[in-house]
Amino acid sequence: MSVLDCSFTDIAEKEDYSFDNNNSIKKNIEKWDNSFKYSLNLFSDIDIAKNKVVNIRDKSIYNLDTLVFTFESNFNKNGGKVCFAQTTKDVNEIISKIIKERQIKSVVLSKSNLLEEISIRNFLKKKSVDYSNSDIGDFIVYSENNKPSHIVNSAIHHNLDEISQIFSANYGVDENANAQEIVKVASQKINENILGADAFITGANFLVADTGSIVFVENEGNILKSSLTAKTQIIIAGIDKVVSSLSDLNILLPMLSTHATGQNMTTYTDIVSGVDVESREEIYIIIVDNNRTNLLSDKTLRTALRCIHCGACANVCPIYKNIGGYAYNCTYPGPLGLIISPYIEKDEDNKHLPFVTTLCGKCREVCPAHININNLILHTRKDIIDNGLHTIEDEQFIKSLYKKTIKRRRMNRGSAGIKNWKLQRKLRKLWGSRRNLPKFAQTPFSVMYTENKERNNK
Ligand code: SF4
Repeated sequence: MSVLDCSFTDIAEKEDYSFDNNNSIKKNIEKWDNSFKYSLNLFSDIDIAKNKVVNIRDKSIYNLDTLVFTFESNFNKNGGKVCFAQTTKDVNEIISKIIKERQIKSVVLSKSNLLEEISIRNFLKKKSVDYSNSDIGDFIVYSENNKPSHIVNSAIHHNLDEISQIFSANYGVDENANAQEIVKVASQKINENILGADAFITGANFLVADTGSIVFVENEGNILKSSLTAKTQIIIAGIDKVVSSLSDLNILLPMLSTHATGQNMTTYTDIVSGVDVESREEIYIIIVDNNRTNLLSDKTLRTALRCIHCGACANVCPIYKNIGGYAYNCTYPGPLGLIISPYIEKDEDNKHLPFVTTLCGKCREVCPAHININNLILHTRKDIIDNGLHTIEDEQFIKSLYKKTIKRRRMNRGSAGIKNWKLQRKLRKLWGSRRNLPKFAQTPFSVMYTENKERNNK
């Protein structure tokens, strides 16, 4: 079977996609959760595996200044062209030039968070270049003029019925179509788009410095198909995607696939190490900063660059599960976005993000790169306050809350013993006998806080 004959109907046929209509996010995450837990059996000790990821990612981050240029020189030797872009504007200028030189009229895009970050679709629209999506999740959400709601699974918020309706409205599929029928139609459309496109624009999972290779992981095979057929391929990747050697993938790939999709290995791992001059004319890579080096310069925040973009932190987040990805209104919904979006997507609207969390710590527990997401969220909050990015209303609200908390004179009156006795009498029945009632501390928090503050001011 040739690569072009591969389709993801095979995968759909083996799966049971018949979810209830409600709570699609929770149901889809439940499915991930079951596979994820099972897939972890791959590792004899998950903590050791995480430590290995930390070592590899830290080694890359701390040596980025040399690794990026090693990658550039090796990628050039392989026949590709490397461009560097400081900002989205620089990326747009580089792509504009390529579009003009190669007279590109249509492109096919892969699923990529960086492509979302730079709003590639808006840019292509302005340039009157037709675009289509090669990832089925993106294909679904863009068919309804929407955006991905998850960094791995773009259409995680939809159930089968909703997807059938989208396909019925856009492609004339029966409203009661089953998963196989939908996947077949999507597969045909995506194949047509891939074969008809002048260029392929994609993100990347890793850039390997010592061989100048680009690594893509996927389940549908469409990145591979597009890479093999497009005359011009443009890869756009963040500077943080560089790793030092192919051997780093031994642990990075299984850790990514288990945490992203609950698979021991994704169906396809494509490693592109050069240009086949007979079938392809050009391969470009644009390495983008977009404030990532600002994260790098901050000792605490730089650990966020260890991220391998698996999306597991969103899957375990109680807030994400309840509000879904669109409520965040940023490219990286979920705990990861709370840290990086205020820096990477320097949009006024993102400064509230670090405050949209309960700090329960589930994300920190699951993260394969041992990123202390809680600490980074607190750090980002402080940064936002220190830089005066909060509103006057926020400040007034916090001040009044502070005053009320500190002056709780009536609450502070009386001994802890009497307060606990009163609480028992009033709430014991309501609270039930199986749970312990919380207890008043001997010294109230507000008293301790005031005393501590006074001591520090002396
Ligand atoms: S922060 Fe950790 S869990 Fe979240 S996407 Fe990145 S690597 Fe995955």
